[in-house]
Amino acid sequence: MSLKSRAFFRSTTFRLTAHYSLIFISSALILFLLAYSLLSDAVRDGDRLAMAQKVREYASIALKRGLPALVEFVRMEREDFDSDEYYLRLDDPDGRPLTQIAPTDAAPLPDELPRDLGPGIQWAFLPRPDGDGLIELACRSLPGGGMVYMGKDASDRERLLRQFRVIFAGIMALVALVGLAAGFLLARRTLKPIQALIDTVRAIDTGRMDARVPDKGADDELNELARLFNAMLDKIKSLISGMREALDNVAHDLRTPATRTLAAVEMAASTKNDAESLREALLDCAEETRRMVSMLGILMDISEAETGAMRLHLGCADMAGLVAEITEIYQYVAEEKGVLLAVAPMDRLPVTADADRMRQVLGNLLDNAVKYTPSGGRVDVSAWREGGAVTVRVADTGEGISADDIPRIFDRLYRADKSRSQRGLGLGLSLVRAVLFAHGGEIDVQSAPGKGSFFTFTLPAAAPDA
Ligand code: ADP
Repeated sequence: MSLKSRAFFRSTTFRLTAHYSLIFISSALILFLLAYSLLSDAVRDGDRLAMAQKVREYASIALKRGLPALVEFVRMEREDFDSDEYYLRLDDPDGRPLTQIAPTDAAPLPDELPRDLGPGIQWAFLPRPDGDGLIELACRSLPGGGMVYMGKDASDRERLLRQFRVIFAGIMALVALVGLAAGFLLARRTLKPIQALIDTVRAIDTGRMDARVPDKGADDELNELARLFNAMLDKIKSLISGMREALDNVAHDLRTPATRTLAAVEMAASTKNDAESLREALLDCAEETRRMVSMLGILMDISEAETGAMRLHLGCADMAGLVAEITEIYQYVAEEKGVLLAVAPMDRLPVTADADRMRQVLGNLLDNAVKYTPSGGRVDVSAWREGGAVTVRVADTGEGISADDIPRIFDRLYRADKSRSQRGLGLGLSLVRAVLFAHGGEIDVQSAPGKGSFFTFTLPAAAPDA
C-alpha cells in the first residue's frame, strides 16, 4: 500500500466516510430485510388461506354427512377443482387413499403422508415426488377417522422470493456504492472548515503571518472555531509586535547610557587628565551603569510579576499605614516643588500583600503625581474598603494624559512625548500594574489633559481583624 493511500485510510475523512456509509447501508439493509420478510409472509399466507378454507369445508362435510359423503362430494367437485395448482387426497381411517387429485402432468402425492398430527390444520413440506421443489401440505384429521390433505407446489413462491433476493442483492450493491459516495461527500463537506484551518496553519508555518481562516459567517461550532482561531492569531500578532517594540525600546534606551559611558571612557583615555577629572569620568561611568542595571532590574521584575514568577513575601499589611509612610517620604519633594500633598483620614485597611512591593507601587504613583503636577497644584491620596476589596486613589491636578496615550502608559518603556523633559525610564507604571496583577489586584486610570489624573487600584482585602 502506498504512503498516500495509507495516510488516507488513517484520515478522519475516511473514518467519517466509513461511519456515514455504514449508517446509510445498514439502514437500507434493515428496510430491505423488513420488506422481504413482509413479502414472503404475505405470499405464504395467501396460499395457506385458500388451502385452509377448503380443508375446513371438507372437515365440516365429514362431520355433518360422514366420510363417504365427503368422498362423493370431492368426486363431484373434481370438475371445478383447480387441478393445475392443487393436490388433494382423502384417506380412510387406516391410511388408505379413498380419492385423490393432482395437478395436470404431476405425479400423485406419495403413499406415506404424515398422520395423527394433532388437532386443527397442521402444515408440512414434502419433496415433489416427480422432480425438484417442495409441496406445502395442509393436513387435518377428519371427524370419525380419516385424513384430508391439500397441497400446493411451493416452487413458484420460492422462485418469486429467489428473484426478489437477486434484485435485492443488486439494489444493495447500488445502495452501498451510493452510500460510500454520499458518505465521502458528506465527510469532505463536514471537514472543509478543518481543512481551511490546516491550510492556514501551514501558510503561517511558511511565514505568511497574515494568513487567516475564511469566515463563512455561519453560526455553527466550526465557524466559531475559525473565528476564535483568527482572534487568537491577531492576539499573537499584536503580542509579537508588542514584544518587538519593547525590544526596540530597550535597545534604544540602553544605547543612550552605553554611548555616554563609552564617550566618558574615551575622553578620559584620550587626554592627559589629572586624578580629579579621571575620578569624575569614573563616577559618570558608574552613574550610567547604575542606570542601565536599574533599568534591566525593573524589566526583569516586570517580566517575573507578569509571568507569575515573582517571589512575593506575603503577609498582613495595613494599606493605611503604608500610604501614610510613603506620603511622608514624598511630602518633602512635593513641598520643594510647591505642590500640596494631602492624605484623607483613613482607618486600618488590612491586605494580604508583600509590603515592600506595595511601597514600590505607592512610591511610583506618588512620584508620577508630584512629577507631572506643576507648582500650585495638589495631589490627594485616599483609600477605603468596599466589600472584599481595598481601593487606593492617587489624584492630581497635573498635566493629565491624552486619550491616545492612556492605553499605552502601562506599556514597558512608554513615555508620552510631553513627559520626556522629566526624568524617568517609562517603566514605573508597567511595574505597578505587573505587581498589582501578581497580587490579584488591578489598576485603572482616568485623566483629562490640563486638568489632572486619577490612578485607582484595588486589592483583595484581608479579614478586618487580621
Ligand atoms: P515615567 O518614568 O516616564 O514616569 P511611567 O511608566 O511611570 O514612566 O509613566 C509612563 C507615562 O505615563 C509617563 O511618561 C507620563 O507620560 C504618563 N504619566 C504617568 N503618570 C502620570 C500622571 N500622574 N500625570 C500625567 N502623566 C502621567
